Amino acid sequence: VIQESKLSPKISSKHKRINVLEEYKKRSTNKVALNLVVVGHVDAGKSTLMGHLLYLLGEVNEKTMKKYERDSSKIGKSSFAYAWVLDETGEERSRGITMDVAINKFETEHRRFTLLDAPGHRDFIPNMISGAAQADVAILVVDATTGEFEAGFEANGQTKEHALLIRSLGVQQLIVTINKLDVVNWSQDRYNEIITKLNPFLNQAGFKKDKVVYIPCSGLTGENLLKRSQNILEWYSGPTLIQQIDKFEPPTRLLDKPFRLSVSDFFKGGIGSMGGITVAGKIEAGTIQIGENVMVVPGGEQGVVKGLETNDESSKWAAAGDSILMTLTGLDIIQLKVGSILCSVSHPVPVTSHILAQIIVFDVKVPITKGFPVILHRQSLNEPATITKLVAILDKSTGEIMKKNPRCLPKVSSAIVEIKLNNRPIPLETYKENKELGRIMLRKGGETVAAGIIIDVSKS
Ligand code: GDP
Repeated sequence: VIQESKLSPKISSKHKRINVLEEYKKRSTNKVALNLVVVGHVDAGKSTLMGHLLYLLGEVNEKTMKKYERDSSKIGKSSFAYAWVLDETGEERSRGITMDVAINKFETEHRRFTLLDAPGHRDFIPNMISGAAQADVAILVVDATTGEFEAGFEANGQTKEHALLIRSLGVQQLIVTINKLDVVNWSQDRYNEIITKLNPFLNQAGFKKDKVVYIPCSGLTGENLLKRSQNILEWYSGPTLIQQIDKFEPPTRLLDKPFRLSVSDFFKGGIGSMGGITVAGKIEAGTIQIGENVMVVPGGEQGVVKGLETNDESSKWAAAGDSILMTLTGLDIIQLKVGSILCSVSHPVPVTSHILAQIIVFDVKVPITKGFPVILHRQSLNEPATITKLVAILDKSTGEIMKKNPRCLPKVSSAIVEIKLNNRPIPLETYKENKELGRIMLRKGGETVAAGIIIDVSKS
């Protein structure tokens, strides 16, 4: 049993304290809510697939869909009609790429999903990270077209990078859609060939065998999304995409930890017509209710929670796992930055500029050496940092130390390193303390070079 009183801050006398854990239990008997991210190489068909799925699920009305069809054929891009369901701005439409993380919601029989659509274009990986950092589960879209799967999987493709990224951001359950099978005549051989190439890689990246499921489909024709395709009856008896999505297991939430919310956006003005400042982000740990105080880190200033919104509905409380809007008063907007943490006043998150981390080095062109400059990403935060010490190279499967004080870290190695933030201390926690805030990613020159977990923050 969780001792709520131990963690709860004072609450202003105007508000009656809510037993959030009780409320959470009641809510959990309803449909489980999950955050879903869709990743994959550019043009793999992510937007088309998800747009079509949302349409088939009745989330897009007929009139709007007809308008997308008319407008897209007017500019000679009729195949983009479904993708438009997700791509909201004109610029994205005319360029035919998804630039930002658009959010949509849908429900299956037993689940409620917030869809974080991730862009496939290389330049937009930082946006994808903030989407993926909020994800519980993922769909990896691969293009079955001859040569296209290979292009996405090989050196400069994003299939591997995205898979490694979502895994290191904590996503454990994955659906791989073998998409555009209409282009290759619904070939079973092609379907199997892709699985044979992809599966060893995904296992090596840390996805457990029973947590990865491969679904053959076409986002464009809609086959095997909601209804089984006639074209694969002979060789496929597995689930449709939506049946498999409905089977995603609920993630474990850090309800009994002190409150932590990582700020992904903020603006002046409150929810509705309320005054104040509104913050958007995901609760990484703990619970919150109206009337409670929260602290902004870095900075240490405090504000009072005046309004909360989860799933587009105003609420008196919210809990770990919820993506929320929170209106605060008593706080100056200059105190906030994207990547700041709002946290419990009694158990604030530590601020540090020097950490020890265990990392996995990606498929880097140049080995990592002492003094290597990186951008450190943690949820929506990104900060310049330097790898100041190579402590040890580890055995990837056992985690045992293979070599102390190595001169460099080769690609696809596992290691312990010290990292120093260049400009300022930032809120970071060990993975042991908080598995959401304890995960980091290191990027350089537009590429992810490593990802890992924080094992010590007391180095400063
Ligand atoms: P994204 O970059 O991954 O979001 O890919 P899009 O959804 O924008 O699709 C890229 C292109 O592939 C567009 O021209 C789509 O019409 C096309 N496409 C997407 N899915 C399919 C499919 O299942 N079959 C076929 N034949 N084309 C598809």
